[in-house]
Amino acid sequence: MIITINVGGKLFTTTTETLFLSKYFKEISEDKIKCEKDGNGYIFIDRSPKTFQHVLDFIRDDKYPFPDEYEYELDFYKIQYKFAETIEKELVPCKKCKFRQTEPKYVYCDFCVRGMLQA
Ligand SMILES: [Zn+2]
Repeated sequence: MIITINVGGKLFTTTTETLFLSKYFKEISEDKIKCEKDGNGYIFIDRSPKTFQHVLDFIRDDKYPFPDEYEYELDFYKIQYKFAETIEKELVPCKKCKFRQTEPKYVYCDFCVRGMLQA
């Protein structure tokens, strides 16, 4: 379903499918979060339209290079993002083959482990 919302005085049109990737909007739709409507009956969010444009582009396509400095905005809209996880899970080279990478808690990559099990 196509939906138009008003963020900080600017209208944004998207689909509910995209918009509800934000738990914040999902909860608004379920009446769990109260929100104001503008004069035209559009949901009104008193946030920056400039940062919301990035948020919307990011939920439309998670390959969108979301600017780090606006990460707090993803928290506001309750959007799951992976930046924090990827930093935590920095990969290390496999001890055996050295080529493939694996999580720090594992010493060998999947391929080497499988090879060792077979041998
Ligand atoms: Zn390996």
